[in-house]
Formats: sequence, C-alpha cells, structure tokens
Amino acid sequence: MRYSAIAESYEEIEATTKRLKMTDHLVKLLSETPYEVIDKVVYLTQGKLYPDFVGIDIGVAEKLAIRATAKATGYAERVIEGDLKQTGDLGNTTQRFLEKKAQVILFREPLTVQKVYEQLDKMAKASGSGSLDQKINLLAGLLANASPQEAKYIIRTVTGNLRLGIADMTVLDALAIAYGGGKEARDGLERAYNISSDLGEVAKTVVEKGMTGIEKLEVSIGRPIKPMLAERLSSPEEILEKLGGECIAEFKYDGERVQAHKQADNLILFSRRLENITEQYPDAVELLRKNAKVKDAIVEAEIVAIDPDTEEMKPFQELMHRRRKYGVKEAMEKYPISLFMFDVLYLNERDLTLKPYSIRHKHLERIIEQGDRVKIADYLVTDDPSELEEFFEKAVENGCEGLICKSLSKDAVYQAGARGWLWIKYKRDYKSEMTDTVDLVIVGAFYGRGKRAGTYGALLLAAYDPDEDMFKTVTRCGTGFTDEDLEKILEMMEKHRISHRHPRVQSTIEADVWFEPKAIIEIIGAEMTLSPIHVCAMDAIRKGSGLAIRFPRFTGNYRLDKLAEDATSVKEIIEMYKGQLRKVNG
Ligand code: ATP
Repeated sequence: MRYSAIAESYEEIEATTKRLKMTDHLVKLLSETPYEVIDKVVYLTQGKLYPDFVGIDIGVAEKLAIRATAKATGYAERVIEGDLKQTGDLGNTTQRFLEKKAQVILFREPLTVQKVYEQLDKMAKASGSGSLDQKINLLAGLLANASPQEAKYIIRTVTGNLRLGIADMTVLDALAIAYGGGKEARDGLERAYNISSDLGEVAKTVVEKGMTGIEKLEVSIGRPIKPMLAERLSSPEEILEKLGGECIAEFKYDGERVQAHKQADNLILFSRRLENITEQYPDAVELLRKNAKVKDAIVEAEIVAIDPDTEEMKPFQELMHRRRKYGVKEAMEKYPISLFMFDVLYLNERDLTLKPYSIRHKHLERIIEQGDRVKIADYLVTDDPSELEEFFEKAVENGCEGLICKSLSKDAVYQAGARGWLWIKYKRDYKSEMTDTVDLVIVGAFYGRGKRAGTYGALLLAAYDPDEDMFKTVTRCGTGFTDEDLEKILEMMEKHRISHRHPRVQSTIEADVWFEPKAIIEIIGAEMTLSPIHVCAMDAIRKGSGLAIRFPRFTGNYRLDKLAEDATSVKEIIEMYKGQLRKVNG
C-alpha cells in the first residue's frame, strides 16, 4: 500500500469537522487497506507505532526534525526556522520546501506504508551514542523520497503533531462498518478492544477472522485489560437495593491500582492507565512471585504504602515517592508497600472475565497465599444495611477510603473499561478536617517492629470524659516520633506501666502494654471520622459509632504540664467534629 493513500485520506479527514464524515473517510481508508498492514495503518492514524502499553514513542524533537528537513531539501536550518515562524507548523513548512525542491526532482521511488513504518520504527528504537545522527538520517531519507504532502504528515507524525482527532471510538466505529457488517458490530469490537487495549490487534482480527474471530478474542498475558470501574451511591440501603439485596463489600484501599500479568516467574505490572510500572515495584513483583500460587495469571490489586514501624496503611500520597526511575531500591526500602488483591481475570490459559465475581473471588482466595504483605482485600458478604455501615466505618478506621460493594449475581462479569453498577463505591460524604491540635492521654502502647523493635511502635490515646470520669480511646498514633522521642516515651512511661487496662480507661482495642492515664501528648490528625472501634463519643453522633482521629501525628509537644483530666474532652472532640464537618464533593 502506498503511503500517499494515507496522506490523502489524512488531508480529507483534516478538512472535515463532522464526526460522521470523519468516520466515512476512515471507513474508506481502512477498507482499502490490505490485511498485512491494517494494524500499522490503525496505529499510524493515531500518531503511534504501537499500542500505548508497549511504551514506545516516536518522539522526535522539533529541532531534530528541522535538521532532517534541511538535509533532505538542501535549505539551511536557519531558513527553515524562519519559515516555521510564519507557518507555526513544521509539517506545513516541510511541505513548502519540498514543493520548491520537487521541481528539480525527476524520479523518486514511491513510499509504501510498510517502508514508512519500518523507518519510523527504527527511529523510535534508536538509542545510545550516535542515535541522534541515525534518527536524522532515517528521517531525511524518508523525506527525500516523499511527496510534499507525504512529507507534511511524516513530519507531523514524528513530532507528535498529527492531531487528526481520531479517537479510539471512531476507529472502532469505522472497523464495524468496514469489516464487521455494520454499526451493530461496534459493541463486540469494543469489548475486544477493552480486553486487549490494542486497536491494531482488533483490526487485524476482524479483517482476518470477522466477527467470529472478534468474539473469540481472549485476554492474554502481556496485553493489559482496561480496568473495570465503580459507580457511586451514598447509603447502604441504596447500594443493597441496586445490587439485588446482597453484596460482597470490600475495603476500598487508598493506593495505586495494579494489574499484574504473571507467566511463570515473569511479571509485568500495569498501572490504572495501563502504563508498564514493573520497574517501579520490584517488591510487588517479588511478592507476587512468591504468594501467587499459580503458573499463569492476571490479577488485580491495590498497592498501598505501609508504615514499616507500625504496619499501618499510609495515605496514597506516600506512594508518590515510588514514582521514579532511579533510586528505586532506596525508595523501596524507605517506602514499603503491601498488596491487597481484589480480582483475577485470567488463570492458567482460561479467560475469567466473563465469569461472575463470586467465582473469580473464590479462585483468587485459592491461588493467593496470604502473608504480611500480600492479602486478599478485606471483605464481608452481607444483606444487612447496618452491617454494611459498620463495615464501612471499620474500613475508614483502618485508613481506607470506604468500600467497594460488588454484585454477587451470576451476571457480574468483569466489565473491562466500563463504569457500571456491578461495582458501587461507598465513600464518606462527610468528613471533618482537623485544623486544631488535641491533647490526648497515653493509655496504652503497641510493641514496635523493624527499626522500632525494643520501643513502642504506636500509642493508644484517649480523650477525657468528665461526666463519667473516664478516658476513652480516640486514636492510635505511630507517626511523628523521632528516635529520641521513642526512647524518651519508653522511659517516661515505665513508671505508669500496669499489667491490665486501667479501670478509668475505656477501650475495645487490646493494647500490648497498658498505662495509668497520666501522660499527655499533643497530636494533630488529618480528619475526624465515625468509628465503630474507638469509644470516644460513642453513640453521640450515630448509634454504635464513636469518633476517631485519622492519620494522627505527634507534634513533638509533650504536655507534661497538664493533668490527665486537662486533656481534650470528649465534648470538645464532638464539637470539633461538628464544627469542621463539610460536604465533600466528588
Ligand atoms: P475512578 O472511579 O475514576 O477510578 P478513583 O480513582 O477515585 O476514580 P474510584 O472510582 O473512587 O477511583 O474507585 C475505584 C478504584 O478503587 C479502583 O480503580 C482501585 O484503584 C481502587 N480500589 C481499592 N480497593 C479496591 C477493591 N477492593 N476493589 C476494587 N477497586 C479497589
């Protein structure tokens, strides 16, 4: 196929403003494209050489493209740059210079799609010393054989400025009409695309095998599946009703979604946006190698940052430290992670995406050997709204955003690439952000691990309730302590240590060590939430719930000047919660 056919089609597409007309042009182009290059033509029309997940860009800088144009046309770079200032588009400029030169060219070999693709591919893959020159030569070689119109589009393609506006969905529409027998084929093609993320592959399949081939296209290792997404509702009653009275509710972890493709010991990790993030997470790779007891599989999980000393979950922002190309090993040690597994889409050569979630979940439990750092997402099967609410509060209490409630019906397939009602998220509508510090009494402690072995990993803290003369737990804090603080606290608390919970302390949590309520420290938290676990303000806002401070941090201030009874009171905590309550959008 001649590249000029593509260039002419681009010209027509560029001139249209109506999507339907654009689809018509694309239908024409794709119908005329032979099978051997259909995938390449599909990638090229989107300014690519490969599907996105492969991660190979043509990416030629403008400066370099100018040099290639100069070389191909014999004009000085300066002159070309001057013209570029006028046109504002290097494609147009190159076309103009080639038109000038065309008058002196007598013969040129016509460019084929195959040839253009091959040369662009070589450019994309050129690396190391000398690659710059190699790229210039390859591009200049192409331009020298191109017509002015072809040159315009080659330049726009390599510099990432093709901008024909052909969306994935337009290509699918065009393929449906050109090869699927009509618009009705669109849904089938879309599903094939959603489970392969590869438009070229979809095009090749429909051209070669028709819609029967498309229906048979299965997920495969190495090709990411577009993620299934959740709708949202704001009450347990609505959620249960929508899901047919019963659901499996899972913690909604606040981390980064990952789709792991495992083939024996080889693993590829894809992000939510289907980028290959394998290099960023060698620890996740290792964990899956060890704990996924299966040869080949595609599983989904949330990667969550963990505090190495307390094993508590950290907010999503903490994972930002893991987004790097260099220093991966150091970041890995400093910012460890846990994996919370929540789906399996492929298992030993079997595509599970059309199986109901209840079955997929059973497979997941069977193949994942849980350990400290790999767990199945915490879940509860329920048909009871108050149980669901309680589980939600437990999730929030544990540092999660809320719940994802999933359908247990036999039609609950994995809806790749779709946001549907088979998964419903339940996040807090209200949260109360903390701006003030609070003074809390140390009533218990938990032994530290890792770096904190020998000291306390976290402290159990309480507010004071003068009406009952009781100290009621409101949070567990393991953050903000320096090594000196940890030593100091160990020593300072020794004299208050007792063998059981103090009678004036109320707590549903079992601490490793209990103290008399004496010492006060100052804390700031990210927000306050309802909690089924902490007993401070129990039943005050909602029956069965107390209030908790999330993501608490020691400010560095010991309030040893205060008596325990001077600690922030339960009443004050309630006022803070109410006062700072605000509607959270989104
Ligand atoms: P979007 O809906 O656009 O993804 P978002 O990124 O805020 O917005 P939500 O819709 O709120 O995500 O929730 C879906 C995301 O929740 C998933 O993409 C996944 O990363 C995360 N998640 C955490 N725990 C689970 C779980 N148990 N099951 C499914 N997804 C989970």
